[in-house]
This record gives sequence, structure tokens and C-alpha cells, in this order.
Amino acid sequence: MIYKSTRGNDTRTASQAILKGLAQDGGLFIPEYIPKMEMPLKELAELDYRGLAYEVMKLYLTDFTEEELMACINNAYDDKFDTEAIAPLTYADGAYYLELFHGPTIAFKDMALQILPHLMTTAARKNDLKDDIVILTATSGDTGKAALEGFKDVPGTRIIVFYPKDGVSRVQEKQMLTTGGENTSVVGIYGNFDQAQTGVKNIFSDGDMASLLEEHGFVFSSANSINIGRLVPQVVYYWHAYLTLLREEKIADGEPVNICVPTGNFGNILAAYLAKEMGMPVNKLICASNSNKVLYDFFTTEVYDKNRDFFVTSSPSMDILVSSNLERLIYFITGDDPAKTAKLFGELNSEGRYEIDDEMNKGLAGFAAGFATEEETASEIAQVYNDTGYVIDTHTAVASFVNRQYREASGDEHACVIASTASPFKFGGSVMKAIDPSYEETDDYTLAEDLAKTAGVDIPQAVLILRDAPIRHDIQCAPEDMKDTVKKILGI
Ligand SMILES: *Cc1c(COP(=O)(O)O)cnc(C)c1O
Repeated sequence: MIYKSTRGNDTRTASQAILKGLAQDGGLFIPEYIPKMEMPLKELAELDYRGLAYEVMKLYLTDFTEEELMACINNAYDDKFDTEAIAPLTYADGAYYLELFHGPTIAFKDMALQILPHLMTTAARKNDLKDDIVILTATSGDTGKAALEGFKDVPGTRIIVFYPKDGVSRVQEKQMLTTGGENTSVVGIYGNFDQAQTGVKNIFSDGDMASLLEEHGFVFSSANSINIGRLVPQVVYYWHAYLTLLREEKIADGEPVNICVPTGNFGNILAAYLAKEMGMPVNKLICASNSNKVLYDFFTTEVYDKNRDFFVTSSPSMDILVSSNLERLIYFITGDDPAKTAKLFGELNSEGRYEIDDEMNKGLAGFAAGFATEEETASEIAQVYNDTGYVIDTHTAVASFVNRQYREASGDEHACVIASTASPFKFGGSVMKAIDPSYEETDDYTLAEDLAKTAGVDIPQAVLILRDAPIRHDIQCAPEDMKDTVKKILGI
């Protein structure tokens, strides 16, 4: 399997694409064709999560040996997850919630970031790369901690995470600052997320920095969601959801299901699209947005336009105006036309908008889209809780609301899998207020205890350990000093 850039001018093997992250021409790597799943559903349904991960991922990462890929999978999906199922399904209020938050940071980014470091170090070995890989990441909260946990103590890697000192929640900050590991560094910058991200981009493209790194046996790489090493592992859990429903006789063999995904950067729902194109029986892919509804507008008007107000919402991991992974879908619906894709994304760059033609729009027929306002998100949490006692987080609630609205409007009665992307404990304040508007606890620990009582579940380990975990990181800097800070950390 060869990987090509969506903009046409870069071709790599799978392992090289993982090391590279973004293509040389600014495009995203896509497989030259979407592989078909040949094994019958009934047989696949016999496999556990790791066995299934192998069957799916081997079709994409064809230059990894069975032994290499199994080692990556076994290192990732082990008892760092708090359930043997890895991604269990819970039925509540007419839908199946695919819980992707049982990993070490209780959000779905663990599903890919637990395996990416192993894929990367294996890829380095295969390509005779002797240098240590240095991951630089700017984070507004969730990604930073998930990346830190994934790369922590993985030999041959270092990770440096930059976050806006006053721009993340207390829990998120504490989660990052208490991270252990000999190869992790966390830096608070006196600035906002955009400055952190721009700083990281500048360091990546700094020629002097690249040669300095090379002299000292280091090479930069990126762990963000455009890396195919994050995309491919995400395809696995959609298959896992379908096969679990089949095994438990909730659906018939071959019966199509709907999949509804709370969407930001379009990575998670793109993985569902790949599962469908591989042959998984899917009726509709439902793209759910919060008030930053640029994707809803795209699906309903054929125009992608980022020139609009930006809203800070209770589902912050979806507060995005440029959904990077959409470029891959655009490429597919052009009929694999890199010139057309490059033209549209050139327009996005210069005008902040692009419009697709009717021919391309036909490629979107398998999608539905909706959005939830802040009030609708909160009322959805309350409704699911009042109907069933099940507590969902704010991001999941956006999808849950959109699915409910879609079903009512369309009469579509297919079973629906909702991607449940974060534990309610991660956004406990918003969740408790949605259930009880008079709720006003401000102390994080009491909040967690109250939420545990309300939901009738244990407080996750990831939250409990924060109470006594020592602070291990204490570096701050101005945005303009990020480069010097990286040098200091690496000792170069
Ligand atoms: C990152 C994230 C999302 C959005 O996922 P994309 O792949 O960027 O669309 C949704 N919910 C949570 C909790 C997240 O952390």
C-alpha cells in the first residue's frame, strides 16, 4: 500500500508517512485505495479488540510485519485501559454509546495516541532512522495529556508539550503537570493557544533548528490528528462496535447501522467513513457540530467558510473552524483528483472559503449533519440522565442531540452507534450543571464525588490519582522564547 499526498506531490510507504506526518506539499497522506475487509463478519466477531486491530490495521500498514504490528497493538491496548473490552458499548435512550474514554486520560484521543508512539518507533527502525524522535505539540487541553501519556518512557522518543498558561482548565493543567516519565516536558506559555501553535509551527520550519537537531541526533515529528498513524487505529473501534452488536444479536448479519460522531477536526468521523468504504454495513454517517457549525453549513450548502465568529463552548475539543481532516474526504469526492483538491485548499488559504460542485456533492450522499446549541447540549445530558440514569459528557451530548433530531426529522430507524468521546468526569462541572441547574460546587474533588454518586459509577483512576500526584513540571516562557526553551530542554 502506497500513501500519496492529497495535493499530488509526495509518495511514501506507510511507515514513512507515519514518520513524516504532513506531506511535503502541505497535503495529507491518503492510501492509494481503500482496502476491502475480506474476512466474513461472523469470523471477525470472534476476535478480541487486539485481534481485530491486527486484521484492520494490517490492510493499511502493509510494510509492517505481523510481529511488528502485533507488538505495537499489544503495547497499546493493555491494562492501561480500565476495561477488557477496550471500547464498550452502552445502550441508553434508544442508541448505543461507544465509550472511547476508558484509556489513561479518559478521552478518545487515547485510542490512537496509545499506539502512535509504538508505530513511530517501529517505523523509525524500519527506515534506519537512528535519531531520537522529538514530538512537539501545542495543546488547548486534551491532546497534550493524551500525547504525553502515549509517549511517556517510550525508548527513542522525547515529547515537549506547550500549553497556554491561562487557557486550559485546572484539571487539564494538573493532568499535564503531574505526568511522569523521563522523556516528557510540559511548558506553560504566557500567551494563547494560537501563539503556542504558531510557535510550534515556526520551530518545525526553522532550518537552523533542523540542522542543530541533526547534529545532536534528534529529529522532529508531530503527533497531531492528520498523521495516518492516528487515523488508522481509529478505524478499528467502528468495526469493533458493529461486531459487538452482531455478536450480541442486537443486529442481523449485514444489517446497516448509523454512526453519529461529535466532530471537530474531522478525524474521528473520517475513520468511520473508511470503515464504511472497507465494507462495514453503514447507512448514514451523521456529523455532529456544536455552535461552531462550519461543518453543518458545509454539508447543507456545499460551501466551507471559516470567516465567521468563533464560540467558546462547553464542548471545547470541538471548538474548531478549520477541520484539517476534511481535506481527505474532499480528495475522495473529487474522484481522487489532487489538482482539484489543491485548488480548493489554496482558496481556503487565501479566501478562507471554498465551494464544491454538484458532482462532488453526490459523494456526500452517505452523510447527514446537524448541530447542537449550548442549551440543546445541556438539555440532552439532562434528558438522557432523566430517562435512563446514564450520564454522558458534553461532546457526546452534542452527538446524542443531533442523532435524536435526525431520527425525528427523517424517520430513519436504523440502530445508531454514537461515538462517546470523553468521560463525563472530564467535563464534570458542565455535566452536573446540566443535570441540576442549581448545582454550584467549585471544588474539583467534591464535584467528582457528586458526579460518581449521580452516575452510579466509580471515579475513574485518572481523576483519583490527581489528588495526590506531585507536580513534576515547572517551566514557563514567553511565546517568543519557545525555540530557546526547546534547545534548553534537549541540551543542544
Ligand atoms: C478531539 C475531540 C473531539 C473531536 O474529534 P475530531 O477527530 O477532531 O473530529 C470530540 N470530542 C472530544 C472529547 C475530543 O477530545
